[in-house]
Amino acid sequence: IRPDDQRLSAADKEFENSIRPKEIVEFSGQDQIIENLKIFIKAAKMRGEALDHILFHGPPGLGKTTLSRIVANELGVNIKETSGPVIEKPGDLAGLLTNLSEKDVLFIDEIHRLSTVVEEYLYSAMEDYRIDIMIDSGPNARSIQINLSPFTLVGATTRSGLLTAPLLSRFGIKSRLEYYTAETLQQIIWRASGLLNTKITSDAAMEIARRSRGTPRIANGLLRRVRDFAQVMGNGVIDLGIAQFSLKALNVDEYGLDEMDNRILSTIIENFKGGPVGITTIATAVGEEAGTLEEVYEPFLIQEGFMKRTPRGREVTAKAYSHLGKTPPYQGGN
Ligand code: ADP
Repeated sequence: IRPDDQRLSAADKEFENSIRPKEIVEFSGQDQIIENLKIFIKAAKMRGEALDHILFHGPPGLGKTTLSRIVANELGVNIKETSGPVIEKPGDLAGLLTNLSEKDVLFIDEIHRLSTVVEEYLYSAMEDYRIDIMIDSGPNARSIQINLSPFTLVGATTRSGLLTAPLLSRFGIKSRLEYYTAETLQQIIWRASGLLNTKITSDAAMEIARRSRGTPRIANGLLRRVRDFAQVMGNGVIDLGIAQFSLKALNVDEYGLDEMDNRILSTIIENFKGGPVGITTIATAVGEEAGTLEEVYEPFLIQEGFMKRTPRGREVTAKAYSHLGKTPPYQGGN
C-alpha cells in the first residue's frame, strides 16, 4: 500500500471498522494528543458547550478517523461523516450543517480538498454558528441567514500545508499525529489479533510491527495477510517463523519502507551524491509533489534515521546506504 494512496475496497473498510477502537481507552499511542483531548472533552462537558473545532493532521492510516469517532463517542453526541471533495456546493454544506443536532460532530475528511466557495461558507459556520446563503440571482438575489445549533467541526488532512490561514485559524485544537513506535504497533497488533480470534506470539507481533512503516493501517493489513499464511501453511498460530516467511513472500521491506521511500533514498544517493539536495529537486526526480514528500514520506524517513534535514537541503545517512546495499562516499578527515 502506498502511504499516500490507501484507497480501500469495501472489504478492507469492513475489516478496518471491525477492529477500529471505539473508546478512548482502546486507542494506543499518541499519548499527548489523548491526554489533551480528555481535558478538552471534560471541560466542554462541564460547561455544557460544544467542543471547540479540531483539526487532525498527519500521514494516512495513523488514526485520524478513529480519533474523530472516539471524540464524538466520548462527548456522547452523533457524528456525521463526509469529505472535502464530496461537498460540491454551498447548499451541500448547508444541508449537512442544518441536519446536525446540538453539539454534534461534523467530520470532514480530506478537508484540504474543499472548494474555495464552500470553504468560505464554512468560516461563519465555524465562528458564529451561522451561514448566509444567497438565493436567487440577478435583481432578485438576496441572502438569507440560517442560524445553526452549536456543533464541533472535526477536520482531517494529510496535507495541512495546503490549508489556508483563515481556515486554520478557526480550529481551536490542532493535533498532529505522529508515526507509531514498533512497541505501540505491537500492542495494536496484539489487540487486533484478539478481536480476530487469532493467536500470535509476541515476537511475531513485534516482527510485523517493525515492518509496518509506523502505521496502524499497514500493521493491521499485514496481520490480516500473515493470518492467511498461518492458516494455510501452519496450524493457524502466528509465530515468528510464519511471520518472517509471510512477510518475505509479501515482499515487505526489512524496515517497513515502501517503494516510494526507497526510490527517494536511492535517487538522493544516485543522482545527488547523497545530498544535500532541495526537496523540490527530489520531488521532480521521483515524480511526486514536494508537499507530499514533506508531509507524508519524509517524516518517517527522518524519524527512522534514513535521512536528515540540513540548512542546505536533504541528506541521506549511512543507514540509508547500508539499507540499499551501497557504499557511502569517503568522508574521513583531510
Ligand atoms: P486515518 O483516518 O488517519 O487515515 P484511520 O483512523 O482510518 O486512519 O485508521 C486506520 C486503521 O488503523 C483503522 O482500522 C484503525 O482501527 C487502526 N488504528 C489507527 N490508529 C489506531 C490506534 N491508535 N490503535 C489501534 N488501532 C488504530
